Amino acid sequence: MNDPSKNSSEDISQISLKKQQKRCAFCHRKLGMIEFNCPCSDHFLFCIHHRLPEMHNCTYDFIKEKNDHKKEILQKNPLIISPKISKI
Ligand SMILES: [Zn+2]
Ligand SMILES: [Zn+2]
Repeated sequence: MNDPSKNSSEDISQISLKKQQKRCAFCHRKLGMIEFNCPCSDHFLFCIHHRLPEMHNCTYDFIKEKNDHKKEILQKNPLIISPKISKI
């Protein structure tokens, strides 16, 4: 049997003593050298297991971004419509 009271007190002292460990925003595991962030948040980091949007219930609207990006491209490079034939 584990001793839950001992474990929890250890956790608390670790958090208060050590510098803030970066943790995965989804599973709260400590992140080592590898950390991932996601456009859904500037602050949250994710571990290697939860870096993918579908793995952390991502709220970022990737489809919208795609569409916006498309729009942007269209605005920057509009279809070249020859204005030579002008209706008078
Ligand atoms: Zn994680
Ligand atoms: Zn995300």
